[in-house]
Amino acid sequence: MHRAPQAMAGRGVVKPVSLSELAEVVRENERVVIRGSSSKRQFCEERSGTVADLTGLRGILSLEPEDQVVEVGAGTLLSELQEELAEVGTCLPLPNAKSVGPLGAGFPGTVGGLVSLPLPHGLEAQCGSARDWVLGLSLVRSDGAVARCGSKAVKNVAGYDVQKLVIGARGTLGIVASVILRLYPLRALPPTEFEQLRDLSGSAVRIVRCLPDAFERLKSEVGDALYAYDPASCTLWTDPQKEVRIEPGRGWRIGPSGEGFNDAHSGNASELARRTRLALDPLGKFNPEPVEAK
Ligand SMILES: Cc1cc2nc3c(=O)[nH]c(=O)nc-3n(C[C@H](O)[C@H](O)[C@H](O)COP(=O)(O)OP(=O)(O)OC[C@H]3O[C@@H](n4cnc5c(N)ncnc54)[C@H](O)[C@@H]3O)c2cc1C
Repeated sequence: MHRAPQAMAGRGVVKPVSLSELAEVVRENERVVIRGSSSKRQFCEERSGTVADLTGLRGILSLEPEDQVVEVGAGTLLSELQEELAEVGTCLPLPNAKSVGPLGAGFPGTVGGLVSLPLPHGLEAQCGSARDWVLGLSLVRSDGAVARCGSKAVKNVAGYDVQKLVIGARGTLGIVASVILRLYPLRALPPTEFEQLRDLSGSAVRIVRCLPDAFERLKSEVGDALYAYDPASCTLWTDPQKEVRIEPGRGWRIGPSGEGFNDAHSGNASELARRTRLALDPLGKFNPEPVEAK
């Protein structure tokens, strides 16, 4: 029997539990704010509209440990996924939650949130970033149609790598409903070099990424405002009140309310992002700017 998600149209929170329910939410609403577990809320601008809570689209859809590939619902919690993958000797190569602690970047997070707003992590230099692990995904577009791109083949050379556009798009191109991920052997996971200097739970934080030659200088400039650092990925987690200067093209930073997010992209990439959004979400339905109160 079809079960309509609550608050199908208008403001409120809806929690679809199937792809067809999610597509219906998109068709029925003019403005849709996409939410995973909200662990990265501090890095996102305020949005207004009907909130689509993706955590109902949860669980492993298929797992092929011998091929090191998994397909999961976008609302799957990363902590739960890592536990299930560990049982078959695989993982996503993120630092172990126990060694990292409740970092301001947000734990546990969902797979959809990781894909839509990937931040630097402590094993990036050795194992790559979310961008390297996403082999394919399904995306609910602004008209409610479901688009699929990529495949489970690790060496897929057919067609454009459309899924790469969605990675880091912060929910502006469509809603990621499921993701195909390439896995990593658990026994080969390198130790992380991440150092946490204070408990970050609940703290506002700024993340700074720089080229290797600037890392030590920035680290000493930040001084007591340094919360955590990772030499492998040249990343610093700092108090957002502390001014950090990075020359253009030599790094980037992201802070509360998405501060600095666009600095991470060159002019060409920003233009590509603008045009892609116009093509995929011409009415600006997903994660729209808040409407000014009259
Ligand atoms: C052990 C461990 C280590 C981790 N290490 C890191 C790390 O180093 N770096 C890192 O970046 N993450 C890391 N994560 C993941 C981290 O927890 C992220 O915070 C998480 O992936 C964000 O998910 P969220 O659901 O809370 O996102 P939210 O805060 O809910 O959303 C973030 C943004 O993504 C958009 N979004 C969310 N879901 C979707 C969707 N389905 N479709 C389209 N847009 C969507 C939202 O609109 C918003 O703009 C780690 C997780 C674990 C368990």
